[in-house]
Amino acid sequence: ATPTALMVGTGRAAKLGILIKNGEILEATHSIKTVVFDKTGTITVGKPQITDIISLQATENEILRIAAGLESSSEHPLAQAILNAAKEKNITAAEVSNFAAISGKGVQAMIDGQEAFIGNEKLANDFKTDNSLHEKIVKLQNEAKTVILVGYAKQIIALIGIQDAPKPSSKQAISALKKIGMQTVMLTGDNKLVAQAIAKDVGIDEVIAEVLPGDKAATIKKLQKRNPVAFVGDGINDAPALTTANVGIAMGSGTDIAIESGGIVLVKNDLMDVVTSLVLAKKTYDRIL
Ligand code: ADP
Ligand code: MG
Repeated sequence: ATPTALMVGTGRAAKLGILIKNGEILEATHSIKTVVFDKTGTITVGKPQITDIISLQATENEILRIAAGLESSSEHPLAQAILNAAKEKNITAAEVSNFAAISGKGVQAMIDGQEAFIGNEKLANDFKTDNSLHEKIVKLQNEAKTVILVGYAKQIIALIGIQDAPKPSSKQAISALKKIGMQTVMLTGDNKLVAQAIAKDVGIDEVIAEVLPGDKAATIKKLQKRNPVAFVGDGINDAPALTTANVGIAMGSGTDIAIESGGIVLVKNDLMDVVTSLVLAKKTYDRIL
């Protein structure tokens, strides 16, 4: 496309709340065949809510006191769900020391002189998780609930089910992308069953789950062997994937680093604008604007 056409294209997009950083990005957008989505905050609203607390060893108040203590220094969206629930019940978070975040798994710390953790089954690996516990976990995961385990003093004291609903327009956007011939993929650190349940709900074809934050960019590289890839994301974790993709599309509500890493920023946080970006790029290229 001519420089003038590209300027017209990016100008049109800007009026619609789609910030395309330069003309080259608009050209690259024209050749995209696969659109890869982060899950939390991109396909889903990003405001996870507790749906289930399954107590194994302690009262619900004690579980929330420990869980809130562990999550009080975490920046993960799941942490906010725990902190909100504790606050609603006027529960004061436990004091913690030796806090450590474990990327893609959860957090651990010392509480009242005991080792404590909160996170997924991978983090809980050192603890005995018997069959009946695993069944409870799988049941929640099949309901699209992320399950986190709370460990304290060498015991798993609770399972917490947390749900993050898809954005209202996610399903419509995926369907529109498929209509214009795009392959759609979900790329997430969350559990496979949870990811599949949400993908099915919104109509995404392919799920790549349980990917550690450091491996998201490598996964994009693999997908690029098939054809040019756009990656849509919002988190700190997503920055390397946003820069690796042929076109990185960041949510306007995302972290600063995601917005800096994206070639396109969706101000309205609406996935329908991914469709609009692709259609606009095609129109610009075909000089029919
Ligand atoms: P996502 O792709 O959803 O951003 P992450 O890599 O951030 O995935 O996290 C993957 C998984 O690790 C989460 O689904 C959760 O099970 C666990 N996890 C990570 N951080 C925390 C935390 N602060 N509290 C509880 N669980 C966590
Ligand atoms: Mg996210």
